[in-house]
Amino acid sequence: MAWDYDLIIVGGGPGGLTAGIYAGRARLKSLLIERLIHGGQMMTTDLVENYPGFPDGVSGFELSDRMRKQAERFGLEVLAGEVLDLQPGPPHTVVLEDRQLTAGAVIISSGAGYRRLEAPGEHEFTGKGVSYCATCDGALYRGHTIAVVGGGDTALTDTIFLTRFADKIHLIHRRDALRGEKVLQEQIFASEKVEIHWDTVVQEIQGAEAVERVRLKNVKTGEEAALEVTGVFIFVGITPNSGWLKNRVAMDEWGFIFTDEQMATDIPGVFAVGDVRHKLLRQIATAVGDGAIAAFAAEHYLAAHHRGGKA
Ligand code: NAP
Repeated sequence: MAWDYDLIIVGGGPGGLTAGIYAGRARLKSLLIERLIHGGQMMTTDLVENYPGFPDGVSGFELSDRMRKQAERFGLEVLAGEVLDLQPGPPHTVVLEDRQLTAGAVIISSGAGYRRLEAPGEHEFTGKGVSYCATCDGALYRGHTIAVVGGGDTALTDTIFLTRFADKIHLIHRRDALRGEKVLQEQIFASEKVEIHWDTVVQEIQGAEAVERVRLKNVKTGEEAALEVTGVFIFVGITPNSGWLKNRVAMDEWGFIFTDEQMATDIPGVFAVGDVRHKLLRQIATAVGDGAIAAFAAEHYLAAHHRGGKA
């Protein structure tokens, strides 16, 4: 059996790029397809402080750039394009807008994107004060009073980043305890710029041309309030980029892909890594581990099942 590539990797976040490094070193003819720009969510992280080897932290952009260069050094090909479908083989067919490519094995590393709050006004004011990316839009709010919604690692990391610009940040969280790492919580509690609104949800985001205020409700007391803000940053979790797979691989109820310890999905020769996978901890460090395992498993799968096959 012949195919275009031994391995096609869909998505260029840290999981996909690490798979590319390992696949290149295993001398698999490999292609990584990335929709926008390599790096995935890592690219929008200002400072990555918990990836080992960088005691002073490293920018998401730099880390991504280094991973990509490392993968290309070992022969990974990179193609910009959007994958629309995966037709299970063998060989597996990866469908793009303008072409179809076949591969002996596929690694899905399409990552995850931000989840919306689904509050009135959110959609209307997206780009007009409502944002999902602090590193993209934070500098627009120098000297402003803004709101951040959420209590996880992203909300805390990005609130800390936003204190560089905003004069005052209202952190709105639906419970009475933060979810994010303790070390981040300590920084939040120590910041004079941050005021936390516990047990509080956003009822509506209001304004004329752009965001002017956010209406809140305390879920315990029922008390309602309004805050005058010019920006609302929403960090309420992530949703997997797996819709393009049209349920061809087994997923949980939210669309995160089930894999075994070897990152194998329920389709032989198709693997999944990183944030798109059903897993306990979504971090750059865990995506990198997933990528290494999946490339190794794909190499063994190809050797065992397709002895005669080659790209
Ligand atoms: P997350 O951990 O799922 O946290 C989402 C936060 O939003 C939670 O505090 C949640 O409240 C809140 N929330 C969810 N739906 C809501 C709604 N409808 N209304 C109001 N609040 C809502 O998501 P994340 O912070 O984006 O992180 C995603 C993954 O990336 C995590 O595994 C995280 O560890 C990782 N990450 C790590 C770092 C880092 O290590 N520095 C940085 C960024 C992301 P509850 O707490 O009440 O559920």
